[in-house]
Amino acid sequence: MKTQHKERNFNDPVCGMEVSRMSAIDELVYQGKTNYFCAGTCRQAFEKEPEKYLRHHRQHGIK
Ligand SMILES: [Zn+2]
Repeated sequence: MKTQHKERNFNDPVCGMEVSRMSAIDELVYQGKTNYFCAGTCRQAFEKEPEKYLRHHRQHGIK
């Protein structure tokens, strides 16, 4: 029986792109949670207004 090590994927909270720990360009720990980003610019945007992006992510589909 083979045990495959599955890479866990995350979503870039800024642009919503799927990133893995391997493919993430940048990361930032916010409130004890590590967020992964596809680009340094996404991390910078998140750093400016983390609440905005976290709220957007949680209330998916609500504007
Ligand atoms: Zn991004």
